[in-house]
Amino acid sequence: MKILSVNAGSSSLKFTLIEFPSKNTIASGLFEKIGMEGSMYTIKYNGEKIVKSAPLDDHSVAVSKLIDELIANKIVDSLEEIEGVGHRILHGGSEFTSSTLLDEDVLKRIEKYNELGPLHNPANIMGVRAFMKVLPNVKNVGVFDTTFHQTMKESEFLYPVPYEWYTEYGIRKYGFHGTSHRFIYKTISEYLKRDDLKVISCHIGNGGSLCAIDSGRVVDTTMGFTPLAGIMMGTRSGDIDPSIIPFVMKKTNMSAEEVINALNKKSGLLGISGLSSDGRDVENGANEGNERCILAQNMYAQKIANFIAMYNNLLNGADVITLTAGVGENSKTMRKMIIDRIQSLGVKIDDEKNDFRGEFRLISTDDSKIPVYVIPTNEELMIALDTLELIS
Ligand code: ADP
Repeated sequence: MKILSVNAGSSSLKFTLIEFPSKNTIASGLFEKIGMEGSMYTIKYNGEKIVKSAPLDDHSVAVSKLIDELIANKIVDSLEEIEGVGHRILHGGSEFTSSTLLDEDVLKRIEKYNELGPLHNPANIMGVRAFMKVLPNVKNVGVFDTTFHQTMKESEFLYPVPYEWYTEYGIRKYGFHGTSHRFIYKTISEYLKRDDLKVISCHIGNGGSLCAIDSGRVVDTTMGFTPLAGIMMGTRSGDIDPSIIPFVMKKTNMSAEEVINALNKKSGLLGISGLSSDGRDVENGANEGNERCILAQNMYAQKIANFIAMYNNLLNGADVITLTAGVGENSKTMRKMIIDRIQSLGVKIDDEKNDFRGEFRLISTDDSKIPVYVIPTNEELMIALDTLELIS
C-alpha cells in the first residue's frame, strides 16, 4: 500500500510517496511555478532524478503530470496502489482538533479559516481539489498544523486583551508546526517507552517554534495567532512590542501590511546580520569575524534558551529537550550555543556526541539534568500515518 503526502503552495506542490508497512519513502518531488512562466518539476526515486520543464497551468495539471510520471517510471504499477492522499493544511482554527477525511463539505468548513492563514490555506485547499479531480476514487485526508495545539488550555492560548476579541474574532494563540512537534513527541516517547513524558520540543529551521508537551498534550507553544510570533527565525522577528508597528508606519510611510511584511521577510537572522537568513551563511560570517553575524547568532540562541527555561518552569521540570528541523538537525554550533545558555537548568552538552548532523542522537552529557536529543523530523510520514489511520 502506498500513501501520498502532499504540501501544496500557491504556485508549488511538494509530494512524498510512502510505502506501508515499511514506511519507506519511494519517491518525492516538487512541482514549481504552477500557473506561471517557466514551470517545471523534479521527481526523485530509487537514486534517479527527473527534472523537466512543462507547462503547468494549474494544480490539476501538476497532479496529472505527477500521476503520469509515477506510472511511466513504474514507481507505481497502477493507480490502485495509491490508497490515500494526505494533505498538509495550515489552519483548522479551533474547530479541527484532529486530522480529518476531506470532502467538499469539510473543505467549505476549512475555507472559513482562510483569513487566518491567507498565504497557505487557499493553496492547500486548491491542492486537495486538484487530487479530487484527478483521482476521484482516492480518499483525501487533511492534517492541520494547528490541531496538536488544540489541547492548550484557555489560560495558555488567550492573549491578555479584551476578551471579546477572542469571542468575536477568534483572536487567540493557535500555534503551528504541530505535525512536527507531534512526530517528535511520538518518536521520543516510543524510544523511551514512556507516554507520560514532559518534553520541550524545539523545531528550529527557517521558521521555528518551541512546544511544551506533557503526556502528549500541548501546554504551550511559541507561535501564536500567526507564525510570526515567538523565537527569532530566519526572516521573522518573533515576539516584539506591537507599538513598534504604528511607530515605523509613521516614520517610513509604510502601510501596516508593509511593516508586517518586513517583520515576516526582512527580520530575524537576515535583519540583524544584514547578510542572510540562512544559518550556514550567518555561521560563516561569524567565523570570519562579522560582528553583525555574531550578534545575530547570539540573539538567536538566547531567545531559544529563554523559552526553554520558561517551558521548563511551565512543565515543572522537563524530562527531555529535543532539537529538530534544518538548524536543530544540522548545526552543531547553534546546538551548542543554545545548550550553553541553559546551564542554570543543569543541562550540559557533550561536544563529542554533538559532532554530527542529521541523525537521531543524544547530545547531552551523562550527568546533564535533562537529556537533550536531536531527532530528525518527518512531517510527511506523520501526514501519511494519519491518512492511513483514517482511510483504514
Ligand atoms: P523550513 O522552515 O523551510 O522547513 P528547514 O527546517 O528545512 O526549514 O530549515 C532550513 C534552514 O536550516 C536553512 O535556512 C538553514 O538556515 C538551516 N540549516 C541547514 N543546515 C544548516 C547547517 N549545517 N548549519 C546551520 N544552519 C543550517
